[in-house]
Order: sequence, then structure tokens, then C-alpha cells
Amino acid sequence: MIAILKQGTTPQQTQHLVNWLKNMNLDVHISEGAEVTVLGLIGDTSRVDMELLKSLEMVETVKRVSEPFKQANRKFHPKDTIVEVGHARIGGGYFAMIAGPCSVESEEQIIEVAQAVKEAGADILRGGAFKPRTSPYAFQGMKNEGIQLLLKAKEATGLPIVTEIMNISTLDLFADVDIIQVGARNMQNFDLLKELGKTKKPVLLKRGLANTLQELLMSAEYIMSEGNENVILCERGIRTFETYTRNTLDLSAVPVLHNLTHLPVVIDPSHATGKADLVAPMAFAATAAGADGIMVEVHNNPACALCDGAQSLTPPQFEELNRKVQQIREVIA
Ligand code: PEP
Ligand code: MN
Repeated sequence: MIAILKQGTTPQQTQHLVNWLKNMNLDVHISEGAEVTVLGLIGDTSRVDMELLKSLEMVETVKRVSEPFKQANRKFHPKDTIVEVGHARIGGGYFAMIAGPCSVESEEQIIEVAQAVKEAGADILRGGAFKPRTSPYAFQGMKNEGIQLLLKAKEATGLPIVTEIMNISTLDLFADVDIIQVGARNMQNFDLLKELGKTKKPVLLKRGLANTLQELLMSAEYIMSEGNENVILCERGIRTFETYTRNTLDLSAVPVLHNLTHLPVVIDPSHATGKADLVAPMAFAATAAGADGIMVEVHNNPACALCDGAQSLTPPQFEELNRKVQQIREVIA
């Protein structure tokens, strides 16, 4: 339930009302806009007398919202959230191109790719150090060493970095990481989400392979309800009966999420398609659909990549993709 307060309501009146609502065992999320203040009532609102609330002098309107996500809900927070990392901004009209290898493999590899994607116009460097692999026998990532190498690449290029966390016990290693990624497989690892919510670090939350958009938003809610509002949502394809592509990119997620939430929405066409030649067309479509960013895998030698070589672009392919994405952005602006 949300209560929109009348213009001119004083902070004392607002506080009085908030205390009254809290006495009903509700949590109250206050969103102060330039013109109006919106109160989001969190908890069991079934016993709140809507008519009584509406009748209060400072209350303009009261609405029941059926969605169970509150903090991520655009109704409570109409303005787009803009997540800022280094010189990059995502959301609210700002767009970020995130690029880099699936996994950090060596110092030479990550520095070379970082420099190439920076030169081609990337805003943020990606690279996995802790890798969630389907097989326990597959390359599991360079772990701590991988993070140290990403930090070197950050220092060499100035690009902010995003890398995946799999277990909260490793959180200390992420102190200088700019964006912590929660991968598709951990989207509903609620303990992990809650702990990340206690940090102020931006979190890139990827949609699970078989999760609905509402479930994605509820996972964002886990992070936000602990106090961290820096959440970026990422659609990376979902599992359907189609087998030609690695997953099926749900592009409608972009406008649907933009309607439902103020959080930025990024598309990952690499994991969505699994095929390098499909990455650019899907990145173009995602840009045209209004995505706030694109995340793509780029490798200096895809044929020898330790992970996801088939979907990795070469630096020149990435340069062309980025150039065209920027052109599309200008057309739709
Ligand atoms: C990744 O981005 O490195 C990754 C493993 O992606 P996902 O969690 O979407 O499979
Ligand atoms: Mn990958």
C-alpha cells in the first residue's frame, strides 16, 4: 500500500503519520520527491483502514499495490535509479557498455582485453574470477588471483570492474571491486542477497535460468530491504524448449521491468545466445528496446578461451558492435 501526501505537508506531519503507521507494525519507506512525498507501507497492510488513512488531512491518495516488491517498485520511487561507478553511470538515460572475458585467465589476457575494450569505448570491464560451472571438472576460475588481476587491469585502464561472487565468505576479496555480480544460478541465494544488501556496493543481479521477472524483482528486494539500493538488473536469457540458442533472450524484460521498477536494466546477449554471431543483433535489439546497458563477452583469442569461447567476440567485433549500439542510441534518443 502506498500513501501519497499532499503538497506542503511538513516534515513534522509526515513524521507523525509515519509513527502512527509504525504503531500498526508496518515498516514505512519514505520517498521524498521534489513535489510530493510518497510513503510505502511494508508489512501486513490487510488490516489498515484505507478510508481512515485517506481521510487524514495530509493524505492526498492511498493505493493498494498488488506487487509484493516495494523498494524496487516504481510506484514508490517514480524516478529512475542511476547507479554510478567511477566515470560510468547506468540508468535514468545513462547507458553503460560492459565488456570483457568470461573468465580471467592470466595477467596478459586480462590486461590485453581490458585495453582493447577500453579503446573500443567500453565503460566497465567484466571478468569472472569465481566461475559457476555446470561441471565440477571444468575450469573454476582463478579465484582470489583473478580478482587481483582484474584490479591490475582496472589500474592500467581506469575502467571500473564487475565480477561475480559465489559465496559470501569471499566478500572481503571484493573490497575494491566496483560492481559485485550475482550470477543466474545464485539469483535466489537469499542469504547471499541479504549480506550484499548490508554493503553499499552496486550489485549486478542476473535473472535465473528459470525465474520470472517478479522473482527477479523479489531478489532485488532482498538486497534493497537490507539498505542497499544500488541494484542493476540483468536479463541473460531464460530456459525454453528452444535448443538452437543457449538460452532464449527475453527482450520484453526491458520494457516490462522499466514499467515495474526504477532499477536499471542491462542485457547480456552473450549468455542469452551462446553464439558470437548472434551477440551483435541481440545487442542492437536490446539497445533499441531501451536497455540501460549491454554486457558482452570479449576475448583476445576466443578459440583458446578457457570458458565460453563460442560466444566471445574479438576486440574488432566488439568495436563494431559498440559503434553501432551508440548509433542506435542516438536514433532512439
Ligand atoms: C557470467 O556472466 O559470467 C555468468 C556466469 O553468467 P550467468 O550467471 O548469466 O550464467
Ligand atoms: Mn561466460
